[in-house]
Amino acid sequence: MVMGDLVDEVDVAVVGGGPGGYSAAFRCAELGLEAVVIDADRRLGGACLFEGCIPSKALLHVAAVLSEAERAKEWGVDFGEPRISLDPLRKWKQERVVGKLARGLGAVAKAKGVTVIGGRAVFEDSSTLRIEGDALRKIRFKHAVVATGSEPSPLPGVALRSERVMDSTAALELPDIPERLLVIGGGYIGLELGTVYATLGSRVTLVEMTEGLLPGVDRDLVQPLQRRIDKLFAAVHLRTKVTGLREAGDGIEALLEGQGPQPFDRVLVAVGRRARSGGLGLETTRTRLTDRGGFIRIDDRCRTGDPHIYAVGDVTGEPMLAHRAMRQGKVAAEALAGRPAAFDNVAIPAVVFTDPEIAWCGLNEAQAKAQGMDTKVSKVQWAASGRAATIGRADGLTKLVADARSGRVVGVGIVGPGAGELIAEATLAVETAALVEDVAATIHAHPTLSETLMEAAENLLG
Ligand code: FAD
Ligand code: NAD
Repeated sequence: MVMGDLVDEVDVAVVGGGPGGYSAAFRCAELGLEAVVIDADRRLGGACLFEGCIPSKALLHVAAVLSEAERAKEWGVDFGEPRISLDPLRKWKQERVVGKLARGLGAVAKAKGVTVIGGRAVFEDSSTLRIEGDALRKIRFKHAVVATGSEPSPLPGVALRSERVMDSTAALELPDIPERLLVIGGGYIGLELGTVYATLGSRVTLVEMTEGLLPGVDRDLVQPLQRRIDKLFAAVHLRTKVTGLREAGDGIEALLEGQGPQPFDRVLVAVGRRARSGGLGLETTRTRLTDRGGFIRIDDRCRTGDPHIYAVGDVTGEPMLAHRAMRQGKVAAEALAGRPAAFDNVAIPAVVFTDPEIAWCGLNEAQAKAQGMDTKVSKVQWAASGRAATIGRADGLTKLVADARSGRVVGVGIVGPGAGELIAEATLAVETAALVEDVAATIHAHPTLSETLMEAAENLLG
């Protein structure tokens, strides 16, 4: 490609530099294809690095340290009252964590020969992109990969625009530690960022419209988290909607269904994310969107209805997780290079990085039963785990679901500290169709929390 030409010609143009996009571009380069990434922000990392996974986990780590210091009082260790300085905390998150990883991604792109172009990409047809950036230019491609991600959904019926009403991106900037924070939505973001703010000192009120936190997640896993959240947050209102928000003095007045107006200093809206598929010129191509949600329709090789265009990541639908986007990115690259790759993974792990963490993969009990499977289920309470006792955390649970007929492990759910790391072994077991007896007969180091998975398997062998 010759930079500065009016029309550049490349093998692969990737639209969007998040985990889906950069994974696709890097794999294309490894396969000998010339790949460029066009990103509106002219940098690689996307929502995950700059306004999602990474900054939120940095702040959750700080929250975990604070909680652990508080727990240590029980063990006769008192660090005194924590003093939180927001400037150094923001600087650490932004420069030492996000900045360092961003520079790393830039270096990888350079090493692999992937060019990053700044600008908004719009399809003109099935082989041409117009780039609206500093200078208008066009790119002609043999294949394109759309990886434009998602954006926060607005709160339906509430139009107030105020810097006190934040989405997750604004909340991660940590503008201050509000005395009273209203969190709307009891899903991943509401619980993770609610935990951050509550631990830093805010009185957090959470409003969730369904009957429980993390709708759709196994209740056995949610229960220990719910108990912790009930203590940590000032209030949790389930089956409740926010019907109005208005500016009042220095704060926000919120109308909660069935209750009087309540004052808050800030509000975090976390009611889901929606596909960023609009304004991309997709109508000039043969790609098709889903009727609900406007996601790009793809097959198991990440092919859209247009033979020249692939799509990966959040813009293709649920689950909107970075590791799904990354796997899809690699699959798309291999598929367009003519290799026999498919996104045929059995298990996509999910982790909610709260305290305790919740993680699961494969089928839960209800899903397995709904498929007509004859299931065997084993639950191991962490109260019996030596490792859990040594860290003062008996509040965990490991749950294993197996197919009674084949003896295969079909799903695992874990709640407790470190569940997000523990789920890796379970995911490997489900993905590789391991038998319950394989997990039971595998030696697990003692004393570790991983032993609870082995015990869950042993319990099913009788
Ligand atoms: P994105 O990361 O959204 O990247 C899309 C990119 O496309 C952006 O850089 C954007 O600038 C660019 N773009 C969009 N339109 C155009 C255009 N027309 N032209 C050029 N460029 C364009 N997932 C996890 O797995 N684990 C977590 O812990 C986790 N935590 C999260 C925490 C928060 C607060 C949020 C908001 C999300 C979190 N996620 C997490 C979800 C994760 O961030 C997404 O699943 C992931 O970023 C999706 O990757 P993607 O490549 O599909 O898109
Ligand atoms: P979510 O879908 O996880 O949760 C949204 C919650 O808001 C749901 O519980 C829903 O019932 C509730 N809700 C919807 N409308 C409401 C209303 N009007 N009033 C009150 N409650 C309402 O969405 P999210 O928390 O915004 O996160 C978006 C996505 O980002 C997640 O689904 C996930 O894919 C991704 N994410 C992942 C992680 C992680 O992997 N650890 C962390 C953060 C975000």
